[in-house]
Parts: sequence; C-alpha cells; structure tokens
Amino acid sequence: MYSGSCECKSVRYQFEGKPLTCYACHCTDCQTASGSAFGLSMIINDKDIDVTEGEMSINTLDYNGTKVQKHYCAQCGTAFWFSADDYPNIIALKPGTFDDTSWFTPIAHLWVRSAQPWVVLDKSVPQYEKQPEISELMDLWAKRKNT
Ligand SMILES: [Zn+2]
Ligand SMILES: [Zn+2]
Repeated sequence: MYSGSCECKSVRYQFEGKPLTCYACHCTDCQTASGSAFGLSMIINDKDIDVTEGEMSINTLDYNGTKVQKHYCAQCGTAFWFSADDYPNIIALKPGTFDDTSWFTPIAHLWVRSAQPWVVLDKSVPQYEKQPEISELMDLWAKRKNT
C-alpha cells in the first residue's frame, strides 16, 4: 500500500494494487502541464485508489477532441491523475505525488523527439519518437527487471 498527497497536503490518497505500467513522456503538452522537462505517468486500475483526506476537484479538458478529466487539489493546484471515457477503469496517476517515490522506475521514454536536448536518457531504457500502444508499455512493465 502506498500513500500520496499534494503540495499543500490537504488531499491524500492511498493506492493498493499493482501498477499496469509507468513511463516518462517528453511531449510538449507534458512539458507545459508539469512546467518542467517531462511528465511521469503511472497507469493503474481506478478501483485501486482511494481519496482518504480532503476533496478531489475535477476539470474536464479537451485534448484534440478527447475528453479528459483532470483530478486535482483546488487548494494548491497539484494534479493527481487523469481519466478519460475512452479508457474506462484505468487512470493515469502522476507518481511524483507519492510520499515515497523510490519504488518505481519508468520503463520507457515517450515523445523523445521533443525531449529537451540537455536531458540525458539511459540508453538501456526503451525510447519512442512518438506515442506507442499502451499495451506495449504494459508488456514492458510486466517484463521489467527492477521494481
Ligand atoms: Zn493541495
Ligand atoms: Zn506527454
């Protein structure tokens, strides 16, 4: 069981289950959303996560015609996870919100064609120019050696 919270600690969650995959995305949307060089996503079953403290706010965003729900803390603005009707029962958690971030390692780098040139990537970790199939990322996670 893993717990997490936002920057202001007013919302807390618990995750009990196994990730389906975890990857780093270097697309420009993730750079903007994170205000940083890349985003981290962990795909999990939505039944495995519970909000244990505070209240999650939800905004519906439109990404090129796909409706995506952003679940975040209204106090500090930290994004916790994203869900989409096109992907029922799974969510994309932002794993940097875990209290302990030492137990997972991303198994792939996505959209490396827009990665910042000063980001040095481990060549032993698979890299994709664009967006691979989610099933491929799940296979990589299942076959990983560490964590
Ligand atoms: Zn907060
Ligand atoms: Zn991205």
